[in-house]
Amino acid sequence: MTSSEKIIASQWHDLLSSASNDARSMLRNIARQQAGVLSRLFYDSLLQDPQANAILSSEEVESRLSASLQQWLVDILSADPEQDIVNLIAQQRHIGVMHSRVNVTIELVLRGVRIIKLALMRALLHGPEYDPVSAEATCLAVGLIDIAIEAMSAAYSRSREKATRADEAFRGYAATVNMSLEREKQRAALFDWSNRLLQDMMISQDPMSLSRIGQSPFGFWLRHKAPALFADREQFADIGYRIDRIDRTLLPACQKAMSGAAEDLRGATRTIVAEVEQIRTLVEALFDHLVHLEAGRDAQTQLLNRRFLPTVLSREIELSRDMDSQFSVLLLDVDHFKNVNDTYGHDMGDRVLERVAQLLSDNTRSGDFAFRYGGEEFLLVCVEQTIDQAMRTAENIRQQIAAQAIQIPNQGTLSVTVSIGVAQHDGHPDYQRMIDRADEALYAAKNAGRNRCIAST
Ligand code: GH3
Ligand code: MG
Ligand code: MG
Repeated sequence: MTSSEKIIASQWHDLLSSASNDARSMLRNIARQQAGVLSRLFYDSLLQDPQANAILSSEEVESRLSASLQQWLVDILSADPEQDIVNLIAQQRHIGVMHSRVNVTIELVLRGVRIIKLALMRALLHGPEYDPVSAEATCLAVGLIDIAIEAMSAAYSRSREKATRADEAFRGYAATVNMSLEREKQRAALFDWSNRLLQDMMISQDPMSLSRIGQSPFGFWLRHKAPALFADREQFADIGYRIDRIDRTLLPACQKAMSGAAEDLRGATRTIVAEVEQIRTLVEALFDHLVHLEAGRDAQTQLLNRRFLPTVLSREIELSRDMDSQFSVLLLDVDHFKNVNDTYGHDMGDRVLERVAQLLSDNTRSGDFAFRYGGEEFLLVCVEQTIDQAMRTAENIRQQIAAQAIQIPNQGTLSVTVSIGVAQHDGHPDYQRMIDRADEALYAAKNAGRNRCIAST
C-alpha cells in the first residue's frame, strides 16, 4: 500500500467500525435491493456524455459493466471493517488504473456517483418520520462511497502521471541513435513510391494500378510513427495535407490522363512530381529539426523500450477508431532460451537476442513498432493489419529466425526458434486485454510444441 492508501485504509476502518449494527444492516439490505436501479441511473447519465459514449457501448454496459458496478456497490456498502478493507483498497486501485488506461476521467465517474448518492439518500430517507437509523445509514453510505472514490482517484492520478511521463519521454525518443537511419529509410520510401508511380504511369496500361501514397510504406510511417516525433511541427500537418491531395485529387487526374492525350499525361506528371518534391523538402526540414537524445530504446537490442507501449497502443486504438481500421500485435518468445545460456554462456545468449531483434526489425515495415517486451520476449505492433495479415508477418518472422545461422566463436553456428502469439485489436479501449489475448495465444503455441504462430480467437 502507498502511504496515502494507508491513511485511507485507517479512516475507512474507523468509519465502518463506529457505525451501529442497525445502520450497517439497513445499508446492506438497501444495497442489494437497489444496486440494479442505481447502476442503470449511473450508466444512463454516463452514456449521455459523448466522450464516454465513444469509449463504452451500450451492449458493453449491458453485458459486463452494469454487473461490475452493482457488485462494487454491494461490496462498498456491506463491507466488514475487520476483513474487507485491504481487498477494497486493492479493488479501487485496480479500477482507478483501468480508468486511466481507457481514459475514463475522474470528472465522469464523479458525475455518475453523484447521481447514485442522491438516489440512495432518497431511498434511505423516504419515510414520513425522522428515523435515526435511516439518518445514520445515509451518512454512512455517503462516507463509504466517498472514501472508495478517494482511493480510486488516488490510483487514477498516479497512473495518469506515469502515462504522461512516458508520453513525454516517448516524444524524446525522437532522437535515438537511429534517427539518421530513419531519415534515410523515409527518403528511400518516398523515392520508391514516386519512382514506381512514374513507371506505372508510363508503362502500365491499367490506370487502376497506380498505388496511393497513403498506402505506401512512407504513408504508414507518416500516419503512425511520425506523429510521435513531429506532431507539433507545422511541416508535419502540411505533409499530411499534401498526401491527401495526391491521393484524392492528383492520382485520379493521372488515371484519367493515362487514357487521354500525351500532353495531359505530361501535365499530370509534372504536378505530381512537384508535389512529391515539396513533400521531400518538408521531410528533410522535419528531420533537420530533431535534436539528438538517447532515450527510448533498449540499449542492448535497439528496440523500443517497453515503457512506451501504453503510449503507442493508446494512440493506435484512437487511430483505429478514427480511421475505422484494424491493427494487431505479435508477442514473441524465444524457445528454450535457457539452453542457449546454459550451453554457450550468457554473453552468447545476449548476442542471440541482439540477432533476433535485428531480424525482427529487418522483417517488419518501418511504420510498425518493435518493442523489447521482456528478457527474451518481443512485442510487435503491426499497424493497419488484420489478424490474417499479421499472421503472415508472424510466419515470415518465425521462418527468418529459424533459418538464421548464428556464428559461435570457434564452435560453428547455432540457430534458435521462436513461438508467436498474435491478436487483433477487438475495439476494446483497454489495450491490456489485447496483450493478454496475444499472451494466451503464445502460451498455446508453446504448448503445441513451439516454433509456431498461433492466432488468438
Ligand atoms: P520456453 O520459452 O521455450 O518455454 O523456454 P525458455 O528456456 O526460453 O524459458 P523462459 O522463457 O522461462 O526462460 C527465459 C530465459 O531467458 C531465462 C533468463 O535467464 C534468460 N534471459 C532473459 N533475459 C536475458 C538476457 O538479456 N540475456 C540472456 N543471455 N539471457 C536472458
Ligand atoms: Mg520467456
Ligand atoms: Mg523462452
